[in-house]
Order: sequence, then C-alpha cells, then structure tokens
Amino acid sequence: MLDSASKAFFHLLAGSRTLKTLASRYGMRSPNSFARRFIAGETVAEAIAAARAVEARGLAETLDFLGESVATLAEADAATRDYLAMVDAIVASGVGRNISLKLTQLGLDVDKASAVDNLRRVLDRAEPNGFFVRIDMENSPYSDVTLEIFETMWQQGYRQLGVVLQSALYRSEQDLERMIALGARVRLVKGAYKEPRAVAHQKKADVDAQYVRMMHTLIERGNYPAIATHDPKIIDAARAFADEKRIASDRFEFQMLYGIRRDLQNALVHDGYHVRVYIPFGREWFPYFMRRLGERPANVMFVVRGITGESR
Ligand SMILES: Cc1cc2nc3c(=O)[nH]c(=O)nc-3n(C[C@H](O)[C@H](O)[C@H](O)COP(=O)(O)OP(=O)(O)OC[C@H]3O[C@@H](n4cnc5c(N)ncnc54)[C@H](O)[C@@H]3O)c2cc1C
Repeated sequence: MLDSASKAFFHLLAGSRTLKTLASRYGMRSPNSFARRFIAGETVAEAIAAARAVEARGLAETLDFLGESVATLAEADAATRDYLAMVDAIVASGVGRNISLKLTQLGLDVDKASAVDNLRRVLDRAEPNGFFVRIDMENSPYSDVTLEIFETMWQQGYRQLGVVLQSALYRSEQDLERMIALGARVRLVKGAYKEPRAVAHQKKADVDAQYVRMMHTLIERGNYPAIATHDPKIIDAARAFADEKRIASDRFEFQMLYGIRRDLQNALVHDGYHVRVYIPFGREWFPYFMRRLGERPANVMFVVRGITGESR
C-alpha cells in the first residue's frame, strides 16, 4: 500500500484525459496488452474464459462488470441490463455464480431510489439462480448510503448479498459490529481510495493494525468472511489465528485480485484454503486500472514498457 501522497498523485493521474486516451488505445488491444494483466477483457465471454482458467487451478471467482459513477439514469439502466445479461451468461456457462457490483454503477449518484430498484432487478434475477452478490465499497462519501441500502435489502429478505468494509476508515470497527449483529457476510479490505485524514488512517501501519483487529473479529464471529488481501504477513496472521482458535479452514475464504500474487493464491489452495479471485472485465476499466497502479509503483514501469512496446 502506498502512502497517501502517492495515492493522491495517482488519483490526479486518473483524471487525465490524455492518459485515458493512450491507455484505452493500447491497454487491451492484443492478448498481451498491459491492462490485461489486471483486467480479463472487455466482454463477458472473456471473463468467463478467465473464470474457467481460475477454476481449473482449484480457485473460485467473483465477476465484476467494470463501471462506476454513471451520470444519467439511462446509463444506470444500461449497466443494470449488462448485469442481467451477465447473470444469464454465467448460468449458461456453468462457471461459479458469484458477482460483485458498485452502487454508483447502478445510478446512486443520479437517484438513490432508482439505484435501489436497479439493485433489486439484479438480485431478483441472481438470487433464485443461486448467485451470491457482493456490493463493493466505494470511497467514504458512499459508506453510509451503501450500508443503509445493504441493510434495507437484508431486511427485505435478500440474504445472498454481502458487503465490504475498509480497515482504512476509523468507523469500520463499529460498522463491523453492526454487520456481525445482522449475520451479514463481510469482505474485509484495506481500502483502495485516497481518503482525508478526518475519516481515515494515513499511515500504512495503522491501516494494517486495524485490518488485523477486524480480521480477528471476523474469523471468530463472522459469517463466512472474506479476508481480501495480498499481504503475506496478514495472511499468515489469519492462518495462525484460525489455528489457535481451532476454526476450520472452510469457515472463511481468502480473496485476491485477478493478476496479483498468483503464487500466493496457488500456495493457499495447495494448503487447503478456499481462495476466490476477483475478476474484473468490461470497457470501463480505466479507473479500476489506475487504482491498481496506485497501489504499487512497479506496476507503472510495467505499463510504460507495455505502451512503448505496443506503440512501436
Ligand atoms: C477481492 C478484493 C476485493 C476488493 N474490493 C474492494 C472494495 O470493494 N473496496 C475497496 O476500497 N477496495 C477493495 N479492494 C482493494 C483493497 O482495498 C486494496 O486496495 C488492495 O487489496 C491492496 O491492498 P492489500 O491488502 O493487498 O495490501 P498492500 O499492503 O497494499 O499490499 C500487500 C502486497 O500485495 C501486493 N500487491 C498489492 N496491490 C498490488 C498491485 N496493485 N499490484 C501488484 N501487487 C500488489 C504487493 O506484493 C504488496 O506488497 C479489494 C481487494 C481484493 C483483493
């Protein structure tokens, strides 16, 4: 995880139109293009092919149709229809039935009631088909509303639905107690967004320490939690804690992102743990891609080499 100044720099770059144009031109052009390290492709068929490859290695997956911050109800409706088609395609393909989505993709910035309706449309198609649907957590202005919408759906009886909590935010330990009281399934992450000091830890050590505390709570008292991190120290700590408390390895799962630490993913499966890979795909991959670059400076060189190689 980078310090907050570097995250801010990447946040700024993510707003650059020139960079977006360059990346869009070269990032996905051929099977070896640089963005394909983190993104499975632009179509559902490519995502399903990636899911098959992940399953062949003994892992599970969740599919994310990339998109966020849509600005009109028409775009939100189109994203919802993309999700409905994706559910059908997953059912037809026979791969695992697990998807992740963002509420701003379903129109949260435009009209909350419409976003809730769109979420319900997806759930009404997905749940009867045995899907699990994870609502990704976006940046802190959306924390309250995301948890509120999750709780509304939960109260309305949707149970194949989960949330995400970020250890970077001061509030998250309280939110965790709220989610545990409900019996909700939580994915624990460090947090991918640049957040202000008023709401979030700025030092990696503090984010990590809160992660470990929340991981302990979840492994001991959570409902099949997802420990989503590539941090080997935290993964070792989770394994040691579960052993110490005699909690079986099938009571929780590890989750990692597509293209990151495959070696660690394989090692965990080899040791008998459940591991799920988050597979993003779709045409709107730029913001997701920039967050991945912001997490690790070495990724930038990888992209620069990709662009210079591709544009020759
Ligand atoms: C399955 C999954 C779902 C997620 N969902 C959300 C969400 O809904 N909301 C949200 O805010 N965040 C989400 N995240 C992102 C998360 O918040 C972190 O930004 C991201 O996981 C990096 O943090 P880390 O825990 O791996 O630890 P870090 O301390 O950042 O990294 C630990 C090690 O992992 C490796 N690593 C980490 N990131 C990269 C990278 N980009 N490229 C190459 N190597 C890397 C490096 O070896 C690094 O040393 C999700 C992450 C995962 C794995």
